[in-house]
Amino acid sequence: MLKEPRRKDWNIYALREAARLKKWFIGVYYSPRLKRLLVAFKPTPGTHVNRLVFEELDESVLKDAYRMVCPEGCGRCCAAKSGAFMLDVEVSKLPPDLQLALEAQPKERVLTPGGVVTVYYLGTGPGGQCIFYDVRRRRCRLEAEYGREYKPIICLIHYCTVFAEKNGQKYIKTGYKITENGVLLFYRRVSDDEWKAAIRRMSSLAVRIAKGERRKRLTEKLTGSIGTQR
Ligand code: SF4
Ligand code: SF4
Repeated sequence: MLKEPRRKDWNIYALREAARLKKWFIGVYYSPRLKRLLVAFKPTPGTHVNRLVFEELDESVLKDAYRMVCPEGCGRCCAAKSGAFMLDVEVSKLPPDLQLALEAQPKERVLTPGGVVTVYYLGTGPGGQCIFYDVRRRRCRLEAEYGREYKPIICLIHYCTVFAEKNGQKYIKTGYKITENGVLLFYRRVSDDEWKAAIRRMSSLAVRIAKGERRKRLTEKLTGSIGTQR
């Protein structure tokens, strides 16, 4: 499991280490027993694992855990105000034309305990939409065209925690409570219809946020140009 996040430079370092193990990523789980989210990987024996950022937990902790789900058709994290980013090690694996496109994106060089890491920001489309989001099909183009391993590690491990499954059943989060010993997430088992209705709600929220952001940017642009004319 990836250890819990700390400060920014450490988190970027941990994410870069996790990006190297992407193909062994098995999911994000909420463990009511440990009261925390678990970002789980299952590397084959002999794989080098950086013990500074990963900890070993017995697989049995996942037995009563909820597995986080990001159902198709929501897209809220990609459609507007996306804070998604890619790390240099991930960009270097993309086809040359995409690498070139990313060079034009806003970048930040972060000094981490493992050296300097370049972070490429993706949310520069209309309303802060991710440049890899396919609006018409409501899906990630990187995943659809190249496969899950090409998605940024942050997108693989980030979940809103609203949707989850356990023992083949669907669950929706009904609330949370922060305690001294960790976070309590509360889930309710739901029918397929309730699940679909929740996706529709989330997706329409994404559309509303995207519209609002586009309007805001247009207003800022117009106000700016009027200001220049004065
Ligand atoms: S809000 Fe949740 S379900 Fe929607 S895209 Fe983000 S993680 Fe997925
Ligand atoms: S890279 Fe893909 S999953 Fe990540 S924000 Fe962009 S469209 Fe969404």
